[in-house]
Formats: sequence, structure tokens, C-alpha cells
Amino acid sequence: MKFSQKLLLWTTIIIALTLGFSGYFFVSHVFQTSLEREAGQAMDENNILRFAFETAALNVPVKYDILQNSSVEQIAANLESGGQGGRRLLRISDEYRQTLYAGDGFDADDTLLELSGEDQYSYCVISLNGRYYIHTGSTINALGRVLYLETLRDVSQVFEERETGFAVYRRLTALMLLLDIIIMYIISSRLTKPIRLLVHATKRIAAGDYGYRARQVSDDELGSLTQDYNRMAETLEQNIESLEHEVQAREDFVGAFAHELKTPLTSIIGYADMLRSRRLDEEQSILSANYIYTEGKRLETMSLRLLDIIVTRKEGAKIQETPAEVLFAYVRSLFSTQEGMELVFDYDRAVVSADAGLIQTVLANLIDNACKASENGGRIEVTGRRVPGGYRFQVEDHGIGIPAQELSKITQAFYMVDKSRSRSRNGAGLGLALCTEILALHHTELEIDSTPGEGTRAGFVLADAGREAEDEETHS
Ligand code: ATP
Ligand code: MG
Repeated sequence: MKFSQKLLLWTTIIIALTLGFSGYFFVSHVFQTSLEREAGQAMDENNILRFAFETAALNVPVKYDILQNSSVEQIAANLESGGQGGRRLLRISDEYRQTLYAGDGFDADDTLLELSGEDQYSYCVISLNGRYYIHTGSTINALGRVLYLETLRDVSQVFEERETGFAVYRRLTALMLLLDIIIMYIISSRLTKPIRLLVHATKRIAAGDYGYRARQVSDDELGSLTQDYNRMAETLEQNIESLEHEVQAREDFVGAFAHELKTPLTSIIGYADMLRSRRLDEEQSILSANYIYTEGKRLETMSLRLLDIIVTRKEGAKIQETPAEVLFAYVRSLFSTQEGMELVFDYDRAVVSADAGLIQTVLANLIDNACKASENGGRIEVTGRRVPGGYRFQVEDHGIGIPAQELSKITQAFYMVDKSRSRSRNGAGLGLALCTEILALHHTELEIDSTPGEGTRAGFVLADAGREAEDEETHS
């Protein structure tokens, strides 16, 4: 059953019970009050009749010492006929509960009579031939006799009014329920609209429509649930997108890797086949072996770089406070044997947050790229500067530069702007991919700024530990 239907059903049940009970108690209360009023009047009437009887008995001519049964009948008949609209019914019994006079239609049994004693007044409600009466009883003391006077007061109207009251309440309850069903149907469908919209959105998203969002139609808790749901869907969509990108990137990587393997392997297989199948002179043999060696070396470089990337991803970075000069000192000694290049180091002293080994790899890769892009005798400046928000490392060359449209691609694995040029310089196209991985572990990224024909500036910013702030010396 739908939530709105449940809401409607329960409201209807509660209203039906509330109206039913309140109606029942109200009608019963009115009935009880009317019955008590009628009982009071019946008792008053009984009292009046008792007085009237005793007075009439006093007026009976004194022929005997005690009141005769015939006189009793006479007085009773007179009293009964004095009633209005024939509603008065009475019965008089003697000391032995023997009926002396009973009005026409006085069919009450003797229960009340048996109970009554001297000077006792009592009443009860009885039903006779489909009508209701208040049956009263009292004791009369007249001329030495103790008689019992009983009256019947017709109260059927009070019972009829109760039935009418119940019938009116039943009709009223049915009408109210009908109204309630109509109003609650409208209210419950409005209240549950956000839920219906959320269910619809969930189905759409589950079917793969990740961009679908639930419409917010209220400002209450369900409204904020819709907002949270949409935020969750947003995050999910972004995660799915990034997963899709990652899967795509991996596929591209595998494709590029297979392609990069193919070229050196083809050369190696070709030259190896030539060496084993033909008789070559010494010069040709050396040339072939040289090709095999060079291509093998390239494969080795590639596998080492790939290994670096995998290990970096797996092990992460152990970031520590590291003096910048330690990093510069390492790369300076690494490239000290580099011939034909003018390497200039210029840096501020500072302590940076870095995994020294990994950042040295990044600097070495950037300087290696700068060397490969520069002509012999080219100048390469390696700088370190304190900047607002950290410490900036930069490698600047005046080499061939990178076309603007290539800038976004060069950090992809195996991507080389000029493949033959890069390969001739033993490039595998993996250096910048590795740098990107390492810098991501340091929560920063590589910034490359280049002008073709003029040169390239590649740099990144690391967190400055803030020490030696007073020591702004420049070293070169
Ligand atoms: P590897 O670093 O794996 O030995 P690689 O240097 O070719 O090979 P990356 O370092 O990833 O690979 O560089 C990718 C490409 O970007 C290079 O092949 C080159 O075309 C271009 N590139 C990178 N740095 C520079 C630079 N300073 N000047 C001009 N081109 C550059
Ligand atoms: Mg490189």
C-alpha cells in the first residue's frame, strides 16, 4: 500500500473512532440526564399521589376502624383518572402485597413491590410491550393500614430520542468521514509529493541517468532531504565520472604502452633476425648490435620509469621538513657531469614539506627535459623562491618550447610532442607523468608555461615550513 494511502486510511480510522466515541458518549450523557429528570418527576408524582391518597383516606366517612379495600379502590381510581393524557398508571397493594387496585395496562411485575418496605421509596426502569416506563414504589400509611403505591411513568420518548440521537450521529459521522477522505486525499498527496519525486529520481538514477535531480517542492524536512539527496547524487555522478575517466586513462595507458613496446621490439627482433640469418660484415654486425643495444636500453629506461610510477602510487610520499638546499645540492651534483649546458642554480634558503627523494626525481626530470629541449650551450636556470603560500621551484630553459595546444597533453604517459626527437634523446614520454603523480602526493601540481622557439618554464609550489624566515639570503 502506498504511503499516502496509509496516511489516508489511518486518518480515516482515527476520525471514525473519535467521532463514534464522542457521539456515543454525548448521546448517552443526554439520555442519562433526561432519564434522571424523568425519574425525579416520577418520584415527585408518586409523592404527590401518596399525599393525595392519605388526604382522601382522611375524608372517608368513619364507619370502620380501618380503611376498607373498596375505599382504597375508589380513591385509587379517582387518583388515576386525575392524570393528564392518560399517562398516569398506578397500583395499590395491601400489607400482604396483594393487589387492591391496578390501573388498566399496569403490567409491571412484583420485583419492586417485593423490595419495598415501610417508608421506602424506590424506582426502576422497565420495558413493557415495547415501551419504557419508570416504575416507582412507596408506602402509604392511611387509617391504620400500610399500603404500597406503585406508579408507572411512560419514558419511551426519552429512549426514542436516544435512538434518534444515535441515528443523527451515525449520519454525521458518515458525512464527516466522506469530507475527511476528500480533504485528506488532497493533503496526503501534497504532503507525499516530495517522496514521490524522490522515488522517481531514484529510479531514473538507478537506470543510469546520473544527471537527473529530484525537484524540490517543499521547505520542510522533506525539502532538505531532497537537497541532501541531490547533493549525494551530485557526488555520485562526479565519482562515476572520475571512475570512467580513470578507466579510460588506464585503457589509454595500456594502449600507449603496447604501442611504445612495439617500436623498440620490432627493431630488436629485426636486427637480431638479420644477425642470425645472414652473414654480415663486421661493420654491419656492430651496427645491428648497436641498434639492439640502444633499443634495449630504451626499453629498460621505460620499464624503470613505469616501475617508478607504480612504486610511487603504491608507497605514497613520506613528507618531512626538508631544507630546500638539500634538494638543489642533489640535482646540482647529478647534472655536474652534463656537458654542453650552462646550468645556473639560484634559490632562497627555506625549509619545505617534501619527500626529498621524490622531489629530487621531479627536479631531475624537469632539468632533463630542459636539457633535451635546448641546443648545446643552452642556459638552464633552476630557481627556488619563497612566494606567498609556499616555496616555488622552477626550471627554465631557452629551448624549442611547446606549442600551446600540446601543453595539456604532455603530462599524459607516453605522450611526446615530437616522437622521433624525444626518442632520439632516449625519451620514453613518462617523465612528466611521474612528476604529476609525485606532485599530487604533495597536494600540488605542475605548472608549465612555454613559448615555442623561446623556451619553457616548468615549476611547482611546495608548502613552506616557515623556518629561517629571517634568513632571506640568495644562493647561486
Ligand atoms: P622521459 O622523461 O620519460 O625520458 P620524455 O622527456 O620524452 O621522456 P616527458 O618528460 O614526459 O617525456 O615529456 C613529454 C614531452 O613533453 C616530451 O617528449 C617533450 O616533447 C615535451 N617537453 C617536456 N618538457 C619540455 C621542455 N622543457 N621543452 C620542450 N618540450 C618539452
Ligand atoms: Mg622527460
